[in-house]
Amino acid sequence: MTAGWVVTCAGLWSDELAKRSGADDNPRIIPFRGAYVHLAASDQPPVVRGMVYPVPDPDLPFLGVHITRHISGEISIGPTAFVAGAKDAYTLSRVKLRDLWSLATWPGTWRVAKQFWRTAITELRFLLSRTAMKNAAAEFIPEIRHRALARAGAAGVRAQAVDRDGTLVDDFVISDVPGATHVRNAPSPAATSSFALARELVDRCETHLGPPEARE
Ligand SMILES: Cc1cc2nc3c(=O)[nH]c(=O)nc-3n(C[C@H](O)[C@H](O)[C@H](O)COP(=O)(O)OP(=O)(O)OC[C@H]3O[C@@H](n4cnc5c(N)ncnc54)[C@H](O)[C@@H]3O)c2cc1C
Repeated sequence: MTAGWVVTCAGLWSDELAKRSGADDNPRIIPFRGAYVHLAASDQPPVVRGMVYPVPDPDLPFLGVHITRHISGEISIGPTAFVAGAKDAYTLSRVKLRDLWSLATWPGTWRVAKQFWRTAITELRFLLSRTAMKNAAAEFIPEIRHRALARAGAAGVRAQAVDRDGTLVDDFVISDVPGATHVRNAPSPAATSSFALARELVDRCETHLGPPEARE
């Protein structure tokens, strides 16, 4: 099969695909695992009717415990954010030497660690203790402190692009190489901005291929 132009949106693997098709090595994707805990079902009135998001720290906008009431009525708290042992570390035990090597050999990883080690300690506490997460949420809604926790919720892995100099890239990174456009960083709220992002990609394709009526 042949294509006039290829657009890749490979999330956690976007850096590898871009590099393999001739793009710059910078930025690299560092996987951050984000886990949630759920409050146990209760006869008490729900502790929250909507969603509670903390005011983000501009340096680390993806951090901070959110409280979410799902359409099922379940209430989740999270996510955590801790460097994952693999790009697909949906379980904690998932570790891949290849991904660890990529992490360890990227200068940006060490610069991020040096800059944010205090934050890493807080996140490690959340990783090790579900009660610590619950207590963090209770700072917004004290009633949560008296509620029991249920099963651990699902976890996601955030693709965080990190520059060689240790900058956490917080904007979209889209780069073109001959024959392809790579979405190398689509951080939150990329899901919310997906239509605007799609428009940008279509515009780029049209720039490279010409308008649809000019093609067969
Ligand atoms: C815990 C968590 C909470 C979040 N909350 C929000 C939120 O509230 N609002 C919001 O807007 N965003 C949120 N985000 C961010 C949002 O999920 C991402 O910004 C968005 O998913 C990025 O879209 P994407 O298409 O670039 O990558 P992805 O959604 O990761 O999709 C990439 C796809 O490419 C596939 N792929 C990878 N490599 C290959 C290959 N070689 N061949 C074929 N397929 C491949 C993958 O399997 C995957 O399906 C959250 C993310 C996390 C982790």
